[in-house]
Amino acid sequence: MGVQAFNHCAGIMQKNNPYTDIAVVGGGLAGLCFAIQAADKGYSVALFEKEKYPHHKVCGEYISMESWQFLISLGLPLGSLQLPHINQLQVSSVNGKLFSHSLPLGGFGISRYQIDYLLAEIAIKKGVQLFTQTKVNEVVFNEQQTESSTQKSSFTLSLQSLSGDMESKLSAEWTAAIAVGSFGKRSNLDVKWERNFVQQKPNKLNNYIGIKYHIRYNHAADTIALHNFLNGYCGMSKIEDDKSCLCYLTTAQNLKDNGNSIKRMEQHILHKNPFLKKIFNEAEFLFAQPITISQISFQPKESVENHLLMVGDAASSITPLCGNGMSMAMHASKLSFEQVDLFLQKKISRTAMETSYQQAWKKQFSSRLAAGRLIQSMFGSVATSNLLVGTMNLFPFLATPLIKATHGRAF
Ligand SMILES: Cc1cc2nc3c(=O)[nH]c(=O)nc-3n(C[C@H](O)[C@H](O)[C@H](O)COP(=O)(O)OP(=O)(O)OC[C@H]3O[C@@H](n4cnc5c(N)ncnc54)[C@H](O)[C@@H]3O)c2cc1C
Repeated sequence: MGVQAFNHCAGIMQKNNPYTDIAVVGGGLAGLCFAIQAADKGYSVALFEKEKYPHHKVCGEYISMESWQFLISLGLPLGSLQLPHINQLQVSSVNGKLFSHSLPLGGFGISRYQIDYLLAEIAIKKGVQLFTQTKVNEVVFNEQQTESSTQKSSFTLSLQSLSGDMESKLSAEWTAAIAVGSFGKRSNLDVKWERNFVQQKPNKLNNYIGIKYHIRYNHAADTIALHNFLNGYCGMSKIEDDKSCLCYLTTAQNLKDNGNSIKRMEQHILHKNPFLKKIFNEAEFLFAQPITISQISFQPKESVENHLLMVGDAASSITPLCGNGMSMAMHASKLSFEQVDLFLQKKISRTAMETSYQQAWKKQFSSRLAAGRLIQSMFGSVATSNLLVGTMNLFPFLATPLIKATHGRAF
């Protein structure tokens, strides 16, 4: 599967009063899926993404089947991409005890490099004005607007071009009736708005780091493995072109204790699990350097902030061992667009739109997030990961409800 880099960045400077019905901040899965649905319905949409496509992201790249049909409905020809289908789970404890189980719903593997790119292409074809290398530095809601007003611009976005190309330098502002916050786990806007999770001191739900590689390694294409190590866990599953994604989450403290050296942490901590030692010793690593992120938080967040509907990780992140943060991001884009559509058709007020979305979000995701936090607490410790694997081997029927508690249905 080949992808061609593109940087889609029209000069906003040349436009008078740049305005769209909808402005989307962040072009990951949540933002792209939202923008495509809105363009399909005939709304004018601008999407601002600070990176170029394609680009790599820290992510396990296992997508739960929940979102298969939804992605096809957006125009992604999943059936013809020859992607690995994954329906088996292996969990190993810190000291290498193994538990295997089938996955009730299962999933498929595709890199973020590939899927974000393909969705960005679809968005452009459907008329979304996609501005890459464009960072949103502020979004201000204009309180003067009347409750029912949809025609006038209610939000003003401050934009910054990150492109070196002087001709495409952007004007400072964009206006829209609706603004969607799909800017991921932690962005400049979270810090600027002093969102609660940014203010928290390091605790058991925050200050994690994520590290990802693409590798070639001979393992079953239908299996996702989750290998525990001290204070973390590492997932491995196949993606496109017979490559595998190897991605782990651990505490920032674990890295600090190893002199801030990833290599040293891997050798001293991850390799204690015999499965991980074998993978790290035998696999062909396809990146010169791993992709990394820090300051990951699983702390609850608000689903509406400053009148923006927050979608995807910007509205809360599920712990990655549940393997369905991406499906949740896409599902939230559907829930939020349903309300935005009603508002733009003047069928409901802005307040009703915000409240209905908050309720729908809570109903759909709150218990899954809580289950994810609970399961997370059993991973990454020698005692509890041994206990978990031991218990599951003795009572395998317990695994299915545990997995189901963190997953939803097709949407
Ligand atoms: C270690 C790890 C492993 C994971 N594994 C899996 C897995 O296997 N399966 C799964 O389903 N989920 C997994 N997840 C979760 C999954 O990655 C996220 O839930 C998903 O990426 C959320 O998508 P999103 O669109 O909300 O955010 P993102 O994909 O992060 O997109 C946000 C976008 O916003 C852009 N942006 C940010 N700020 C600005 C700004 N100010 N202006 C313009 N653009 C901006 C960013 O560049 C980014 O492209 C994992 C997470 C971690 C940390």
